[in-house]
Amino acid sequence: MRHLSGSMFAWALAAASGCGPDAQMDRTGVDALADEALGLGMGDSALQNAGAPYRHVVIVTIDTLRRDRVGALVRRAAGSLTPTIDSLAVEGLLLRTHYSCASWTLPSMTCILSGAYPTDLGFISSDLTPVPATVDLLAEAFRGAGFRTALISSNDLLGPRTGLDDGFDSVRLFDRTARASVVMAAVNPWLAGVDPATDQLFIHVHVTDPHMPYEPAGVAAVLAGLPPDPWGVGTDAGLDALRSAWAGLSPGDRALAMSHIDARYNAEVSHVDASLRVLLDDLDVAGVLDDALVMIASDHGEQLFDHGGVGHALTLHTEETSALALFWSRDMVPTVWNNATSHIDLAPTILEAFGLPVPAVGRGLPIGHALSSRPVYSTLASAGSVTEQAAKVRQQRLFYRWTSDLMLFDHSVDPKELAAVADESSPAAVSLWNRSLAAESALLDPLVWDAPVSP
Ligand SMILES: [Zn+2]
Repeated sequence: MRHLSGSMFAWALAAASGCGPDAQMDRTGVDALADEALGLGMGDSALQNAGAPYRHVVIVTIDTLRRDRVGALVRRAAGSLTPTIDSLAVEGLLLRTHYSCASWTLPSMTCILSGAYPTDLGFISSDLTPVPATVDLLAEAFRGAGFRTALISSNDLLGPRTGLDDGFDSVRLFDRTARASVVMAAVNPWLAGVDPATDQLFIHVHVTDPHMPYEPAGVAAVLAGLPPDPWGVGTDAGLDALRSAWAGLSPGDRALAMSHIDARYNAEVSHVDASLRVLLDDLDVAGVLDDALVMIASDHGEQLFDHGGVGHALTLHTEETSALALFWSRDMVPTVWNNATSHIDLAPTILEAFGLPVPAVGRGLPIGHALSSRPVYSTLASAGSVTEQAAKVRQQRLFYRWTSDLMLFDHSVDPKELAAVADESSPAAVSLWNRSLAAESALLDPLVWDAPVSP
C-alpha cells in the first residue's frame, strides 16, 4: 500500500525604504483550540475597506517571483528591489505567510482563479490538460455580474490553451519574452474602449520576466563588474550545464555562478516593479484606481540552487512555494496578516469584498475566516516530476514524497527547510500526517496518472 499507516501617488510616504510594514496593524487569527471551544468557526475578515464600495478589480500576477526578493517581506541589506510592491504592501493587506498550491503555473493559477485545490476540483493537470469548463473561475463570476473583463498575459498557460481565460471578454497574449513594461502598457488600448465611470472593470495582467531564461533588459550593465561567467547562465542550456556541474563545483565557483544568476534575476524583478508603478499610474489617470481593489501575487517561486537545483516544479520547498500576495485599495485599513494563507483564499477574498457568492466547491476562505490550525497544502504532480505534497500547520511543514517518506521541517528554526527534524518514525510527524496529508493524499491518488504502488 502506497499510503502511510493511517493513511503619482500617495505611496510616496511609504516608498522610503526605511518604512516597512511594522507600522501596520499586525494581526493573527484566533487560536483554533480556543476558537473551537467557543463554538466559533470564523474570525473577522482581514480585508477592511474604509472607503466607498469597490467598483473595479485589478489583478497583477507575477510569474516565478521569489518571496525573498520582495522588500516588504524580506529586508535586503542592499536595498529593496520592489519599492512599488513595498508601498502597496504597507498601505494594504499583506499576507506574510502565503503559499502557492503548486510550484508551477497551471495548477497555481487554477487555485488563484478558482479558490479551490486540485483535490477539491477532482482535477489536476500533470500534463497540461486543460482546466474543465465546469470549474468556476473568478472572471466568469465578475462577467456574470456585469463587469467588462480583460486578460493580458505573457504566459499562454493562462490563455485558451488551458481554459483559464474563461470569462474574459478580451484576451491579449504575448510571447514569454515580452517584457513587463510592454505587457502592462497593453492595458491602455483596452482602457480606451471602456468608461470606468459607467463600466465596472475586471483586469488581470500576468507577467513572466523572472521566469528563466534570466535575460533582463540592459544585461551588460547589470553584469558590469562581475568576473566572466563560464557557463552562460543567461540561457536555458547554460543553466542546464551549471545544474549538471553544480555538485562538483568549488565554493568559489558556486559563488561566481550565483552572482551572475542573482544579478540577472534581481534585474528582472526590478523591471517588473518599475513597470507596475507605470501600470498603476496609467490606471490612476484613466480613473480606475480610486474605486479599485488591487491584488498582487506571484504564482510560485523559483529555486536558485537552494536544494541543489535551478528552476521550479522541482520540489515544494519554500523557495518554490512561498509566494507574494497582497491586496490594496486607496482606503484600505493597513494590515499584516500572519497566519498561513493559500492561493485558494484569494478568489474568495475578492468575491466577498464585492458581495458575490463564493463557490462551495473550493476550500478557500476569505482572509481572516480560517482557523489558525488549518493546514495549507501544496502539491507537485507534473509529468516527469515526483509527486510531492506538503502541509503547513503553524510553524511546522510536513512533506510527503510519494516515492519516499515523510519529512517534517520546523520553520521556527529552519524557515529555508534545509534539514528535516523528523521522519515517519517520529510520533510528531505521524500525528501531523494523520491530521493533514493522509486525507489529502487519498484525494490526490486517483487524480495522478503515474501514482506509484509503494512508498
Ligand atoms: Zn509560473
